[in-house]
Amino acid sequence: MTKRPGFPARLQTPAAPPARSNAAPVASRPLAPSGVGMDSEAVRVRMVARLAAEGIADPRVLAAMGRIERHRFVDTALAIQAYEDTSLPIGLGQTISKPSVVARMAELLVQGVQGRLGRILEIGTGCGYQAAVLGELATEVYSIERLRGLHDKARDNLRPLRLPNVHLLFGDGMQGYAKGAPYAGIIAAAGGEAVPQAWVDQLAIGARIVAPVALPGGRQSLVVLEKTARELRRTVLETVQFVPLKSGIA
Ligand code: SAH
Repeated sequence: MTKRPGFPARLQTPAAPPARSNAAPVASRPLAPSGVGMDSEAVRVRMVARLAAEGIADPRVLAAMGRIERHRFVDTALAIQAYEDTSLPIGLGQTISKPSVVARMAELLVQGVQGRLGRILEIGTGCGYQAAVLGELATEVYSIERLRGLHDKARDNLRPLRLPNVHLLFGDGMQGYAKGAPYAGIIAAAGGEAVPQAWVDQLAIGARIVAPVALPGGRQSLVVLEKTARELRRTVLETVQFVPLKSGIA
C-alpha cells in the first residue's frame, strides 16, 4: 500500500563534499537537479551497523532505523551529515535527535513487548523523523508539536512517505492527547522538570513513558516510568541533552 522510492535512493546535494560512498551508480530518481550523489541506503546500512555495535539489540528498532531515510528530514545542505551520529538543526531553534538517541529511546519504549506496540503518543514532532521511525514499531502514532512551523514541516516531510498510521497534531503536548488514551507507550523528545501528570493519566497499565527529565542539580537524564496497577516505577538512566519542554503553542 505504501509507495516508497526505490533503493538505493540517490541524494543530490549541491553544497556537499565529494560522495563518500563508492557504491556502483544505479538509475534512480534524483532529489535535486545537480550535485554530488550519495547512496543513502549504503550509508544507512553503515549507520545501523554502528548502532548495533554500540549496543542497540532490538531487531525491530534496527530494521526501522534502516528503513526510514533520515536525510529526507533535514535541509539539503545538511543531508550529507544525516547518517552521522549527530543532532542537527531543524529550524526554530530545535534539533533532530541523534540516531543513537532515537534508537535507544525506541528500544526502551518497545522493551518487553512482543511484536508491534499499540497506539503510542510522541511529544515533540520536530521534523517528523522519530515519528516515522515509531510508525514502524507501533500500530498508531500520535505525535504532537507545539510550534506551527515545525508541525507544517513534519507534515511536508512525511507526506511522500505515506505512513497511514502516523498522525500529526498541533498543540501543547504537556496536556498529552486525551482522545487517543490509553496509550501503549509515551515518548518525549523534549525535557521538562517533571513528567506531566497528564501523560501518566493517559498511559495504559503495563505501559511505559520514556522521557528526558531535568533532575535536581540541572542534569537532564533519560527516565523510564512504568505504570502498574499499584505504582509508577521510575528508572533513571543516562544523561542526555534535549531541548526544553515548553507549555503553550507558538
Ligand atoms: N522527534 C523530533 C525531535 C524534535 S526536538 C525529530 O525527530 O525531529 C523536540 C521538539 O519538541 C521541538 O520541536 C519542540 O518544539 C517540541 N516541544 C517542546 N515542548 C513541547 C510541547 N509542550 N508540546 C509539543 N511539542 C513540544
